[in-house]
Amino acid sequence: MFIEPRVGTGPSGIARRGWIEVVCGSMFSGKTEELIRRLKRAEIARQRVEIFKPALDTRYHAEDVVSHNQNSIRSTPVPVAQEILLLATNCDVVGIDEAQFFDESLVEVCVQLANRGTRVIVAGLDMDFLGQPFGPMPALMAVAEFVTKVHAICVRCGELASYSFRVTAAEDKILLGETDAYEARCRVCFQEGLKGKKERGGMSE
Ligand SMILES: [Zn+2]
Repeated sequence: MFIEPRVGTGPSGIARRGWIEVVCGSMFSGKTEELIRRLKRAEIARQRVEIFKPALDTRYHAEDVVSHNQNSIRSTPVPVAQEILLLATNCDVVGIDEAQFFDESLVEVCVQLANRGTRVIVAGLDMDFLGQPFGPMPALMAVAEFVTKVHAICVRCGELASYSFRVTAAEDKILLGETDAYEARCRVCFQEGLKGKKERGGMSE
């Protein structure tokens, strides 16, 4: 489990310093639950917390980061990452959910937030349904002080799962709100699934 290096400013009043944390993994790995856990602890420490997510993710409620177990925290949808810089001016901690859907400019936004003293916690899918690094996530993992990879359980064999296997034949990179269309799978079962799809002609490659 991740233990914060520090949370509040403490009684010494020494100016706080920013840093970046990344929580990544496949679908059903508990990324959002972990993001919410860290943010709730910061709230208990009387930190000013704000959560942002890409406006294109409209699953469930527009205003909430909602994890699949309904343990939610209110959040603000933003159309572009730069908007976070303007909206987060008075925050001690900024949470960003579904970060894989932002473009590469999110990396610079997170760096700027951390440089000005904000703790930034970014949660997102590290790989897409083909097992490729997803959007800004690999670069965020590189510039972060702390990276936590959480795992799901493979629904085929019960091993630890790192991959999001798409059960349907759809080939769009973004298939929103369609959690039924995915299974968490381990490396072996993910590869077997891809092979099966190619053999059935379900993929263009
Ligand atoms: Zn498996």
